[in-house]
Amino acid sequence: MLSHNLSEASMKTNRQPPHPATLAAQGLGWTDAATGAVVLPIQPATTYIRDPDNQYRRGRNYARADNPGYDQPQALLTTLEGGAASLVLSSGMAAATTVFRALPVGAHVVAPKVMYHSLRRWIAGQAAEGHIAADFVDTTSLDALREAVEPGRTRLVWIETPANPLWSVTDIAGAAAIAHKAGALLAVDSTIASPVLTRPIELGADIVMHSATKYLNGHSDVIAGTLTGARDDEFWQRLVAGRSSGGAILGSLEAYLLLRGMRTLFLRVERACRSAQRVAEAMAGHKRVLEVLYPGLPRHPGHAVAARQMIGGFGGMLSIRVKGGEEAAIATAARVEIWKRATSLGGVESLMEHRASIEGAGTPVPSDLLRLSVGIEDADDLIADLEQALAG
Ligand code: PLP
Repeated sequence: MLSHNLSEASMKTNRQPPHPATLAAQGLGWTDAATGAVVLPIQPATTYIRDPDNQYRRGRNYARADNPGYDQPQALLTTLEGGAASLVLSSGMAAATTVFRALPVGAHVVAPKVMYHSLRRWIAGQAAEGHIAADFVDTTSLDALREAVEPGRTRLVWIETPANPLWSVTDIAGAAAIAHKAGALLAVDSTIASPVLTRPIELGADIVMHSATKYLNGHSDVIAGTLTGARDDEFWQRLVAGRSSGGAILGSLEAYLLLRGMRTLFLRVERACRSAQRVAEAMAGHKRVLEVLYPGLPRHPGHAVAARQMIGGFGGMLSIRVKGGEEAAIATAARVEIWKRATSLGGVESLMEHRASIEGAGTPVPSDLLRLSVGIEDADDLIADLEQALAG
C-alpha cells in the first residue's frame, strides 16, 4: 500500500529531512501502490484470511487488534512527536485510562490539581476504589511535585500542559527529571499544545497523550485519542495489548478522518495561535474583563516556562474572567453571535464555554470564567463579537 515515504527518501539521499509541516501535509508522502492514489483507501474489514498453512504472514488477523487505517496516522504522529511508536484509540479518555490501567494494582500516581476534569474525576474514583493510589498536586511547582513523588513507590507522574482551563504550564523537562529519579514514568497530556507547539519526548517524557478529538482532527467530527511512546518497551507493549483487549479501538472511517485532519494541523494551529494571542491582548485591557489567562501574555505565571518549551506559539486556548461574576459571564456567553456556545476545543470554529457549569460541584474553576477555543476565523471578527457580547 505504501509506495513512498518522505522521511525514508531523504535518509537515502542524505538530504535534510523535510520539516514536520511538510510531513504532516503529505501524510509522510504515503501513496497507494496499487492505484497511485494520493489518499489511502478506507479498509472496513473486521477479519483477515489465514494462510493455508495456518499462518498470518500478512500480519493482521482481526480488526480489534489492528487496522491498516491506523498505520498512516500512527506513523505520522510518531514522526511528529519524535517517539518510537503510537496508538490511535477510541477517545482521549480511552487513551489516558489505558495508561493508568496498565499500571500494577495499587500503584502510586501523581497528577495535577487543575487538569481535564473528567480524567481528574476518573483518577480520583480509581483511587477511592483502591485500584491505584493518587495524589493531586500543583505540578506547576517542581518543589510540590518533588515532595509528592515517592522514590520506589510512585509509578507514574501525569501532567497536562498547558492545562485546562487556567492554561497553567508545567515544566516538562523538570517533571521528567523528578519522575525518573524516583523510578516513575512521565506521561504528558499534550492535547492543548499539539505536536506543532511542544514535543514532550524531546524534553524527557515517556508517554505523550492527545485527545485527538481536538487539534489533531480539528473539525469537531471525530472522537479519538492517541498515545505515543518514547520507547517500544515492555510498558508500551502493555498499552498495545490494553487497546486490543480493552477494545477501545477507533473505527476505520474515524481513522481516515483523523488523518485527513492531521494533514492541515500546522496551518490550523499556527492560525489559532496568532489569533488567540490577538484576542488575549484585546481582552487584557478590556474594562469588563477581570483577568485574561493565556500563556502568551508575559504576566501569565507560566509564560517563562511556556516560552522555553513551546515552539512558535502559545496555543489557541485562553480563558477570560468576566467582571460581575457568574451571572455576567453566562450573560456574556448568551450574547455571542460568531463564537459557538459549546464544550470541546481545537476545531476550526471558535467555541466559548462557561467552564464551571460543565465541571459541576467541587470544580477549582472560578465561576466567572469563560473558556475560549480560538478557531481559524478572521481574528477581527472574533474580537468584535467578544466586544459586543461584553458590552451587553
Ligand atoms: N484531555 C484534554 C486536555 C481534553 O480537553 C479532553 C477533552 O476535552 C480529554 C483529555 C478527553 O478527550 P476525549 O473527549 O477525546 O475523550
